[in-house]
Amino acid sequence: RAPAPARARGARAQAAMVEGHSVHRVCHQHRRALAGLAFRATSPNGRFAEGAAAIDGKVLERVEAIGKNLLYFFGGDGRGGTGEDVTVMHVHFGMSGRFGVFGADSAPEPKPTTRLQLQTAERGGLIAHLSAMTVQHGGIELFHERRAALGEDPLRDDADPGALRAKAARSSKPVGLLLMDQAMMAGVGNIYRAEILWRSKLHPEMPCSALTDAQFAELWRQSVRMLRKGFECGSIITVDDECGRYGAPWSRRYIYNQKQCPACKGPVRSWSMSNRTVYCCETCQPLDTNQRAALPAARAKALGAARGAKLFASHCAPDRGADVLPEKMRVAELRSALDALGLNTQGKKADLLARLLAAERTGTAGIVPKSAAAAAAEKLAAGESRAVEHIAELDDEMAAVIGVGNAGARAAAGTPARAKGERAPARPRAGVRGVKRARRSLK
Ligand SMILES: [Zn+2]
Repeated sequence: RAPAPARARGARAQAAMVEGHSVHRVCHQHRRALAGLAFRATSPNGRFAEGAAAIDGKVLERVEAIGKNLLYFFGGDGRGGTGEDVTVMHVHFGMSGRFGVFGADSAPEPKPTTRLQLQTAERGGLIAHLSAMTVQHGGIELFHERRAALGEDPLRDDADPGALRAKAARSSKPVGLLLMDQAMMAGVGNIYRAEILWRSKLHPEMPCSALTDAQFAELWRQSVRMLRKGFECGSIITVDDECGRYGAPWSRRYIYNQKQCPACKGPVRSWSMSNRTVYCCETCQPLDTNQRAALPAARAKALGAARGAKLFASHCAPDRGADVLPEKMRVAELRSALDALGLNTQGKKADLLARLLAAERTGTAGIVPKSAAAAAAEKLAAGESRAVEHIAELDDEMAAVIGVGNAGARAAAGTPARAKGERAPARPRAGVRGVKRARRSLK
């Protein structure tokens, strides 16, 4: 028998902004399911009527994800959505958006929040429902505008860490804010921020301009690895073998929402940064005495309000054997790392290093994402409520499996209940079968 739903075991409900890995999964799914087709586009709740009319009957030529944003290119000129006459739709899910694709025979009725419905008779009949905080349309300039406004996304093939490094070097902003600033780094949200900083051994209040090349390289490397893993798993699971396994309660994440540091077992402190709670072990992520003394008044005040035990004396946590940058690896370690990737292990040290660095790519090419159902089943087995991490591709069946119904999701998102007379959201017809299927997959 499958374990009880997470909600029954007291998992906490909190509002969760979708993070970049989830948006890239929607992009991946829509490239396969929707691209190349023309749709009847309508706006069931009337809040995207003009946009729906603009894309109605046009071919979806291309889908792109940049950070937490999705861009859909509707054209019909067959040039991959690059022409001047293309219609671009920009989507940002916000706290509770979704863009689900259903078979025409099992699609639910549109909800009061459904801003766009796409429908086609091709591929056996498909219906897609979009609800999102932001949905807007325009010409190709809308894409260029968003592209220019957003920073480097570790899940894009064209990510440029050098450009981010240059921006960071000029910024006195704390590194904990850099990660959340979508104009600097696109796609990282609050959970990844905590995990990336802990793995990189960086204090959230450290000024960006003080980052060494090695520290920046590690920050970028961890960002890429964690987001790629999230893209594959469909969940924010940051723990990996490279850092060693610490067991429960650190089997999925190291420090986010934890009381104790998995490495030194010291207390985790938390305070507010850009209106979100940041987590830090000040033993493993020490802040230099001079940097602490030089903090601007507002940052010093925020850090001073940190909850947890009193401050520790700063001393660096020792590097773990497997947790070293490629640049610091010995020949045997380089060979071992290359071997693990199935790459050639022959050659001089410089060749080995160049080969390993070249293998550490950005983007999502070559990763086969696990299904949303598999991700939901894993969350259920781990006792995690759907409200912890917002899943934009999750449909009602899977939400039911992991124990957060519509009321729970509404409460988690801080949105009010339906107004009197408003239509009740329909349950998908295949709901019960879907739940049974997912439960079976756990056995
Ligand atoms: Zn620690």
